[in-house]
Amino acid sequence: MAAGDRCEFCTTRPREEVAVARWHAPDPDDRERLTLWLCSRHMERMSKAGTRGWPHEGWLHKIGWW
Ligand SMILES: [Zn+2]
Repeated sequence: MAAGDRCEFCTTRPREEVAVARWHAPDPDDRERLTLWLCSRHMERMSKAGTRGWPHEGWLHKIGWW
């Protein structure tokens, strides 16, 4: 399956490739910077969580690398 065929977090067709920072809660300054394909639902979840981060599988995620 080619990149961009489905959302990183579900099977929905993604809307766009998004710059995402993720980190573990105890260590918020140690961030990984990724680009992930996201559907509009997951983009919305992440953007609603804002700088607190959207939790998934032990990671917190937010939109943007800054
Ligand atoms: Zn999704």
